[in-house]
Amino acid sequence: MTNDERYSRQIRFAPIGTAGQARLGMAKATVIGCGALGAAVAEQLVRAGVGRIRLIDRDYVELSNLQRQSLYTEADAEQALPKAVAAASRLRAVNSRCEIEAVVDDVRAANVEKLVSGSDVVVDGCDNFPTRHLMNEACVRAQIPWVYGACVGSYGLSVAILPGQTPCLRCLQDELPGAGESPTCDTSGIIPPAVQVVAGWQVAEALKILVGNIAAVRRVLWASDLWTGTFQRLDLAAWRDPACAVCGMTPRYPLLTAGDAAAVVLCGRDAVQIRRPSAHLGQLRERLGSALLIANDYVVRWRDGEQTATCFCDGRVIVQGVQNAVQARAFCDRWLG
Ligand SMILES: [Zn+2]
Repeated sequence: MTNDERYSRQIRFAPIGTAGQARLGMAKATVIGCGALGAAVAEQLVRAGVGRIRLIDRDYVELSNLQRQSLYTEADAEQALPKAVAAASRLRAVNSRCEIEAVVDDVRAANVEKLVSGSDVVVDGCDNFPTRHLMNEACVRAQIPWVYGACVGSYGLSVAILPGQTPCLRCLQDELPGAGESPTCDTSGIIPPAVQVVAGWQVAEALKILVGNIAAVRRVLWASDLWTGTFQRLDLAAWRDPACAVCGMTPRYPLLTAGDAAAVVLCGRDAVQIRRPSAHLGQLRERLGSALLIANDYVVRWRDGEQTATCFCDGRVIVQGVQNAVQARAFCDRWLG
């Protein structure tokens, strides 16, 4: 099958055409977070023929994801496969010509610049503001366009950020919202069409950026609520802040320079993530005995009373059933030494 045949309907779309399709084939996109939005975004980019895609996610597939996270199956949840690995495997079957890199890791100050480097566009598929603001700092610093997207309930919004041309996320939101301040999918639920609408908005902007049609990139925030049928359009031109700590005259990149916290409380899940320097999954599996629930090349999961822990190959451990970092650390010390 030739590329012309595979992408014929996209090539026929005049703003892309043969030249645009060739550019997509040479392009590299990075998707940060492979939950509902990230999975939908990655699938569209791979089907559209983007040449190289990097998928980054720190989590594993769970049964409650399948309602909206379109790349995953029951088998992925049973095996607790990392989302980046499960997504990459599904997407390679969709388009074998796309070079797909799966990164099972947590995006943080120490690695975000390396993770976005070399990308022509970065698309936001994550579920929290600290990660989005890190992404914003790394992309603005490296002058990489990125597309913010978020959805909860039946509501969603998206904004394209062109460093040096549009306001950045920090211009729009000077202070990071506190924990529990914004609604999340765990507190307010979410319906699949809200995900697909926002992913569509994000990928449309990403395609414009990747084919080099920067003039067509939308300079407004779009938001809609699919249940009430409302749509908002907010012109962002006046929002660019010359004193912005990220894109202003004297950038300070506050999060990139602040370093990483060792423990992260995961939103709405009674779960805390602890970072260990490394993991030896084989040895851990041997030691767990009857506590072992799941073991594969990427994760080992075990149960201790009301608490469940999942250790990843990169050294992270997510402890579920704890209320804070102190309890999670105590749990890890008890089992991992
Ligand atoms: Zn800014």
